[in-house]
Amino acid sequence: MTTKAFVIGHPIAHSRSPLIHGSWLEAHGIDGSYEAIDVAPSALPAFFDRLRGGEFAGGNVTIPHKEAVFALCDAVDALAGRIGAVNTLVVEDGRVRGTNTDYLGFLGNLDAGAPGWAEGLDAALVLGAGGAARAVIVALQSRDIPVILLNRTRGTADRLAGELGGEITVGTLDDANDAAPRAGLVVNTTAVGMHGTRFEGFDLARLRPGTLVTDIVYTPLETPLLAEARARGLRTVDGLGMLLHQAVPGFEAWFGTRPAVTAALRRRLEESL
Ligand code: NAP
Repeated sequence: MTTKAFVIGHPIAHSRSPLIHGSWLEAHGIDGSYEAIDVAPSALPAFFDRLRGGEFAGGNVTIPHKEAVFALCDAVDALAGRIGAVNTLVVEDGRVRGTNTDYLGFLGNLDAGAPGWAEGLDAALVLGAGGAARAVIVALQSRDIPVILLNRTRGTADRLAGELGGEITVGTLDDANDAAPRAGLVVNTTAVGMHGTRFEGFDLARLRPGTLVTDIVYTPLETPLLAEARARGLRTVDGLGMLLHQAVPGFEAWFGTRPAVTAALRRRLEESL
């Protein structure tokens, strides 16, 4: 019987997940399918009934459902609970379990793109305090890295730091130049960088040589932040690998094979941007 998986969102046409999982299904010769399904918020409970009926092995959850599915899952693991969002569902014996693989995607991307990046790292400068920042900070804390969290809206960063606990220093984006020399890693988790937008006033000359700069925005692949960092001779890792690496654990759970993030798959994805 064909094993079926999905990604649900609203809208969903933009999703690149079918390309990723479809490529792996093909490469491994698995009798499986992975489809994008548009599910409106009001239709989520009915979709979960379908899941419990055994039609799918599981799937991914994207905007705007990552928080709403919490209440509908039969179990949510501790990691997803801490991050406050579910992006992966696994159906077993009529029960739906929710987890979050964004943090593994973030770590897998840096491990592949900048091996040894966490060794001796004194602090990470995280720009942004939205949903993606939560997964990034939990990931950094899993490697015992102190975080300097800067956000346009200070109150949002204060709330996030309070919820997550641990070693997090909070400020606004105006503090970026002061904080820059104290961090060996810079992570942009804000929407800045999409459509060529840039951080006004953040002087990358303030960063130490050898600092690693990464952006989770991947449209464009090289954001203005990454372009400037590269021009200054700093190490950079783009955000496309995070999307690829977050997909690995889900595929393994549904189809029973651990897939590899290959250069060929990355090229296919780049061509689709
Ligand atoms: P979100 O929850 O809406 O958070 C958006 C963040 O961006 C907030 O911190 C917000 O600050 C900040 N922001 C928005 N516009 C800004 C501006 N003009 N100047 C300064 N800060 C601004 O969104 P999200 O889910 O965290 O996603 C953020 C980005 O990450 C998106 O571009 C998304 O596509 C990308 N992403 C990539 C991956 C991947 O796999 N590579 C995974 C997840 C997300 P305020 O609090 O002040 O509004």
